[in-house]
Amino acid sequence: MPAPREAAIENRLWSLDEAMPRSDLRALQARRLRETVERAARVPHYRDALLKAGVTPGDIRSPGDVRRLPFTTKEDLRANYPFGMLAVPRSDLARVHCSSGTTGRPTVVGYTAEDLETWANLCARFLVAGGLKPEHMVHVAFGYGLFTGGFGLHYGIEKVGASIVPASSGNTERQIMLIRDFQSDALICTPSYALNIAEVAREGGLDPRQLSLKIGHFGAEPWTEEMRNEIEMQMGLYAFNNYGLSEVMGPGISGECFRRDGMHVQEDHFLVECLDPETLEPVSPGSNGEVVITNLTKQAMPVLRYRTRDICALDDNPCACGRTGIRMGRIFGRTDDMLIIRGVNVFPSQVEEALLKVEGAAPHYMIEVDRPGALDEMTVRVEMKAAQFSDMISQVQALRERIQRAIYGITGLHANVELVKPQTLERFTGKARHVNDKRKDKRRP
Ligand code: AMP
Ligand code: ZN
Repeated sequence: MPAPREAAIENRLWSLDEAMPRSDLRALQARRLRETVERAARVPHYRDALLKAGVTPGDIRSPGDVRRLPFTTKEDLRANYPFGMLAVPRSDLARVHCSSGTTGRPTVVGYTAEDLETWANLCARFLVAGGLKPEHMVHVAFGYGLFTGGFGLHYGIEKVGASIVPASSGNTERQIMLIRDFQSDALICTPSYALNIAEVAREGGLDPRQLSLKIGHFGAEPWTEEMRNEIEMQMGLYAFNNYGLSEVMGPGISGECFRRDGMHVQEDHFLVECLDPETLEPVSPGSNGEVVITNLTKQAMPVLRYRTRDICALDDNPCACGRTGIRMGRIFGRTDDMLIIRGVNVFPSQVEEALLKVEGAAPHYMIEVDRPGALDEMTVRVEMKAAQFSDMISQVQALRERIQRAIYGITGLHANVELVKPQTLERFTGKARHVNDKRKDKRRP
């Protein structure tokens, strides 16, 4: 993990449970895990899976017994579309959301009124850990709708008692006008959209550092420390990382404290494992692996050992903030995001890390992978910063070589680097897309 980058904010807890002694936490986890298995056993899918695994709720005596439970995948949720995974009657649902980024049938998730209350409190915890106060005005530029980001954060902010500007996504000029005129203190969106806002503000003649924003809570997509530096430099705020996924609940699974040295997992509500995605055995402490999450308190639709496909490392060293939840490092990438180029595994986040180390490269890029002949080729299209663009051709060539070297240094691959004019690559209002793998279109069905 990179060195902590402490933010100068007060260290406050939303709930004392965040600092529960680990021995109490483990006892609570064991009890809640057993209750969850009882609830899950009402779902035909889990009744069968538990029977096959030969486990009953009574077998669950410690958090480690999670390893006896069956895994759940996105395919299981799709196969039970729309409400086959509910552990409560449909009439008990208070809200439904869907997972993003899928084609065809969405993955549906349901919440009871109690689940919504829990969720709001969990979002409040990480917002407060990252400096949110009741007197703040918060601009939410996450989409409001089936996506869990908008509504999830909305009710967390409401819990904290801050005021909300539910701007939702789109119309960036208008968002900037509102942030400026309302003097908002906090911004909530994807990290890529934060940069988009900064850029559009500058185009309109407004230095985003002159806005009143003090903190930003960003998540919903992978981003790097280099990206955090860039956002903080451009916007003059403290940027915090938070993580979640709709299948398990939405945002609120983990988030950073003022030390910003990993995201504290809310372990009284989620049991998190870090497994080798091939063997499904735990990785050695501190190593990267796939995050697998079991709900501990979800009523409507608990999931057992959900395979998130997200890759990161867990850190169980105590944190100076007093929270006792283990910390998740940055999500390095997703197992389904990983590109294999000439046999070398590459995550888009590594390319981002490399190019943002190079002065003159803007944080806008697109990785294109193709196999024109026998061998894979990776082309990284990178925008130049406006200042560099007006410079001499020879300097542009030098910039290209620096980026190539940086990518080689981190991935071990020679990439074609194409520098493009500022403002030429697509911008996103939600989750950014950074990869176009043309080899996929060429594969036979
Ligand atoms: P969704 O379908 O909208 O629930 O998306 C959840 C996915 O977004 C997760 O499985 C991650 O791949 C990604 N994600 C969410 N938060 C973060 C984060 N802080 N860093 C990296 N990826 C994230
Ligand atoms: Zn901490």
